[in-house]
Amino acid sequence: MEFFDFDALDDAEKRAERDKARKFRKTRWWQQKTASGICYYCGMKIAYCNITMDHLVPLARGGRSKKNNLVPACKDCNTKKKSMLPLEWEEYLEKHK
Ligand SMILES: [Zn+2]
Repeated sequence: MEFFDFDALDDAEKRAERDKARKFRKTRWWQQKTASGICYYCGMKIAYCNITMDHLVPLARGGRSKKNNLVPACKDCNTKKKSMLPLEWEEYLEKHK
């Protein structure tokens, strides 16, 4: 048992979750979710080839590859989200609503 952050996944678990996410990308569920081509965060229309799959709760913070934790995001949001702290990201979303 790791004790420094009880929510965090270990490397093997993260790898398994990423594998799951990759498999989700090939499902009808994901096709339907991305059919509208709308970014979950900024609401912008995105070209299908630019849609990325994002974890609402990042794996690094104990999130899992579950349907309710996977959302379509544009590359812009995905890149910005990764470089921000959760609080900064919330502020960013507030401004772009
Ligand atoms: Zn976006």
